[in-house]
Amino acid sequence: MEKADSCGGTKLPDLISDLVSVFFPLRCVHCGRPGAWLCPECASSLAPVGKVSCGRCGRPASKAGQQTARHNCPECRGRDIHFKSARAAFAYEGPARSLVHRLKYSGHRRLADFMAELACNQAGLTRPVKAVTLAYVPLHRSKLVSRGYNQAGLFARALSRRLDLPLQDLLCKQHLTQPQNQLGYDRRRQNPEGSVALRRDAGKRLGRGRAGRILLIDDVYTTGSTVSECARVLSEGLGTDVDVWTFARTVKNRL
Ligand SMILES: [Zn+2]
Ligand SMILES: [Zn+2]
Repeated sequence: MEKADSCGGTKLPDLISDLVSVFFPLRCVHCGRPGAWLCPECASSLAPVGKVSCGRCGRPASKAGQQTARHNCPECRGRDIHFKSARAAFAYEGPARSLVHRLKYSGHRRLADFMAELACNQAGLTRPVKAVTLAYVPLHRSKLVSRGYNQAGLFARALSRRLDLPLQDLLCKQHLTQPQNQLGYDRRRQNPEGSVALRRDAGKRLGRGRAGRILLIDDVYTTGSTVSECARVLSEGLGTDVDVWTFARTVKNRL
């Protein structure tokens, strides 16, 4: 199973987070109303991705439910994508965006459990039937030290508990890349190349003969470049197929 510090998810910060929540009751991460991580109004305005039009990148279907042939998907056609499929629970907007930002920047580790619960309640993010091992997008060591945790790792850990699936720390970030949100769309697609490596003991961690598929977890899917690079490293190094799950996904032109 995961090492305690692999995603910064050690028990002590969780305990501190619990104590803080006793003295500072929860507030809605989107509108600030007291009482819960999301107030009922904001929870009801979450936008599930629902049906997808592209089986590869998980581009949401149009409102008419129209399907897109893989070779004709405007988001992934012609792109060298290394995962088999990508799915997300919510459109990256409104309260879903607030949840992702709060988990990433505010130190509220327990939010990952709430987000895993929301994600698992969505159709399309149900427990996989095949044997899978969860892995997550790594954070550079310096970022892990300054932030104290890897938000993708915390989300993966919460999903692992909820779905009763094993979680392994298989990847490491070799060098710092410019944050994706500071790059234009074209640069984002190129940014992660060569930035991720397999941990030296990844094969051992996964265990011989029980690899099945790997379900790679991240908080947000934007261009898919980061998860594709991770999937390339995992599939080339371990010989397994990789699917991707994210809490949210950018949604463009859902006509
Ligand atoms: Zn609210
Ligand atoms: Zn696509």
